Amino acid sequence: MDRVRVLAGHLGVSNHQGPLDEASGAQLQREATLATTNYEGFPYAQTMANFPPAVHDVFLFDELLSPEEKDIRYRTRAFMEKEIAPIIANYWERAAFPFEVVPNLAKLNLGGANLAGYGCPGQSVIGAAMAVVEIARVDASMSTFLMVHNSLCMLTLGLLGSEEQKRELLPDMAALKLIGAWGLTEPSNGSDAAALQTTARKVNGGWVLNGQKRWIGNATFADVIVIWARSSETKQVNAFVVRKGARGLRTSKIENKIALRVVQNADIFLDDCFVADSARLPGVTSFKDTNKVLAISRIMVAWQPVGIACGVFDMCKRYVDERVQFGAALGSFQLVQEKLARMLANVQAMFLMCWRLSKLYEEGKMTHELASTTKAWTTLRGREVVSLGRELLGGNGVVSDFLVAKAFGDMEAIYTYEGTYEVNVLVAGRGITGKAAFKAAPARKQPTSVQA
Ligand SMILES: Cc1cc2nc3c(=O)[nH]c(=O)nc-3n(C[C@H](O)[C@H](O)[C@H](O)COP(=O)(O)OP(=O)(O)OC[C@H]3O[C@@H](n4cnc5c(N)ncnc54)[C@H](O)[C@@H]3O)c2cc1C
Repeated sequence: MDRVRVLAGHLGVSNHQGPLDEASGAQLQREATLATTNYEGFPYAQTMANFPPAVHDVFLFDELLSPEEKDIRYRTRAFMEKEIAPIIANYWERAAFPFEVVPNLAKLNLGGANLAGYGCPGQSVIGAAMAVVEIARVDASMSTFLMVHNSLCMLTLGLLGSEEQKRELLPDMAALKLIGAWGLTEPSNGSDAAALQTTARKVNGGWVLNGQKRWIGNATFADVIVIWARSSETKQVNAFVVRKGARGLRTSKIENKIALRVVQNADIFLDDCFVADSARLPGVTSFKDTNKVLAISRIMVAWQPVGIACGVFDMCKRYVDERVQFGAALGSFQLVQEKLARMLANVQAMFLMCWRLSKLYEEGKMTHELASTTKAWTTLRGREVVSLGRELLGGNGVVSDFLVAKAFGDMEAIYTYEGTYEVNVLVAGRGITGKAAFKAAPARKQPTSVQA
């Protein structure tokens, strides 16, 4: 309250024009509200700590959701706004993971997402997506943390693991007592993951893994890591469960990221890492089996920019109401309104495209080309929304406390992971033309010099 009084006292000499009349009384009221945000240097607009109301759902998307899906949406939203929004910018700045929120996150019963049985909630694809959207709306890193755990690690175990692996791991993973990671990418093989080089050599009673992985989310602290490796016998890709502390397993955090800074990505080094026979996933016999997992996880990744865009739009809407320049709220200016209109239209279109993709998956009609088209397109539109938002916030558009700068950075990683924009549009292009264009054309011979 003291700050409110101080603000009131300063109003007469503030940037705002006019005496302390009725209009500036309203201004005083507004500043009194803003003063609760504790951002000392800028009392004119609230930070993300007091998360803005959700005003993005103008196409009443809510009406397309089942009661269960709505329940997931609103439970998750309440948790994220109350428990994560006030603290997460600080974690993002420090590139640290908020371990202390995991027990309360577990209470939302989101662990395992689409999987049913073994303690998992068996959500619909849209239900799982609503959790992704609401988490990403406040913090994309937290949604990546949960998606790596749910849609990559747990889903691989659920779809392709043995009965013993499922019984041993899934219940504790659903309760977030054990955290998962998923290691496919290698330093030598990013987009060209099918040519991965990590090896699995059959020995008495198990397998010996050798190689390197890169970018693996959650890997610095994960209890369970699914590692994709090529069998030295068959030359086919297999998958293995590697537990925390396994001999020959070493992880090293990737520092200095400009995106998803809360996610702990790691380089993984496998030096004669022994795993027992029981650690091999029996459902994986070739690289093609990754597609069974990526089909769902790519849908979820396509939804992530939707959540990010919703949060950025909500934040911008409040900001342009609160921030006054040239004697009027920013929202009064035509150029500002054009940006808001473009952002809001993008949000609606992204929602509807992802919703339809998810329904097609549930009806068994989704193709990989459609998933790739959608993932590529939502990341493209998401990038547009966050950059418009960044412009709308002026200087505060580069300060993570105001959400948009954080979202702006985070979008960059999502544009690139689970297939880069380019690789996903190549998959889409193959679907359109029937011609794969992934491989470079043969290099031309060096032209011979022309003799005069
Ligand atoms: C924050 C983050 C988290 C991640 N988490 C995980 C994880 O948990 N587990 C995991 O296994 N992996 C993870 N990844 C890895 C991610 O999937 C890869 O970064 C991605 O597949 C791209 O690989 P790359 O970075 O090696 O880029 P490259 O493959 O080297 O690509 C570089 C550029 O070349 C372009 N390019 C490549 N091939 C072609 C082509 N044929 N035609 C046209 N352009 C092409 C790409 O589109 C890109 O623009 C993560 C990555 C990031 C950044």
